[in-house]
Amino acid sequence: MFQDIAPHVFNNEYDRRRPAPSDYLVLLDGRKILLSGDKKLPTAADFEKFCPQAVSEAFYLFSIDETGFFFTHTPFEEREEIPFRYQNIMVLRDMESDCLAFGAAVAAQLGEWYSLHRFCGCCAVPTVHSDEERAIRCPSCGHLYYPRISPVVIIAIVDGDKLLLTRYNRSGYRRHALVAGFVEVGETLEDAVRRETMEEVGLKVKNIRYCESQPWPFSSSLIAGFFADVDGDPSVHLNTDGKEELSEGIWVNREDLVIEDNSVSLTWDMIRKFRDGLVP
Ligand SMILES: [Zn+2]
Repeated sequence: MFQDIAPHVFNNEYDRRRPAPSDYLVLLDGRKILLSGDKKLPTAADFEKFCPQAVSEAFYLFSIDETGFFFTHTPFEEREEIPFRYQNIMVLRDMESDCLAFGAAVAAQLGEWYSLHRFCGCCAVPTVHSDEERAIRCPSCGHLYYPRISPVVIIAIVDGDKLLLTRYNRSGYRRHALVAGFVEVGETLEDAVRRETMEEVGLKVKNIRYCESQPWPFSSSLIAGFFADVDGDPSVHLNTDGKEELSEGIWVNREDLVIEDNSVSLTWDMIRKFRDGLVP
């Protein structure tokens, strides 16, 4: 999956180190990230040539092996002579098992969080970075802000030898998927599994069991994947309240499952597990 970068090692302890020439620099423009034509991040050495201020203002995010990833708020405009362009961060999703794509996506997640916390939400004064940890501090009221992660559940709904595949209306993703959704305030993961399943496909489920998890930086999420058995009538009723998320919900026999996606997503890892009889 996306986060499986072994033998490379993701180190996310906070540090105050400065960029070395071969370290990577993350620059964002909204949901776009500055990348080369082959979807690589610029290095600090690249930016010493184009915009040294971006390097001097960069701060450390994490490293993969010995290579650091740094973020800078320094505004930077594309120029014809510079071989980097702002590209939608979702291009990183389609790079199979590439530790640099994973690093760039997690760096973009943190960069977006830093960008959204430049001012205190309590008293609106400019914030500063904590000296001790990955946190933003308000110098006026002392409020500390930590990166927020939004939990998501993905549910593989099973009826004997059949798995329920869906297709989403939103987000341009046209391959099949599983039922999924954000956990809401006050819910357990299992509550979210039952609610999302009823809301999206009109099914009751039982025997909810945890399978595996995945950090998903594109929505600042941690995804928890569950298998669940349909409870009672397996007829699918797609939500038709006018904001329906799914365009399709179909039962597919184990032997008819076709793997449509590369290996980065938990959804397809779970579909593969069902096909191969590896359901928990
Ligand atoms: Zn404040």
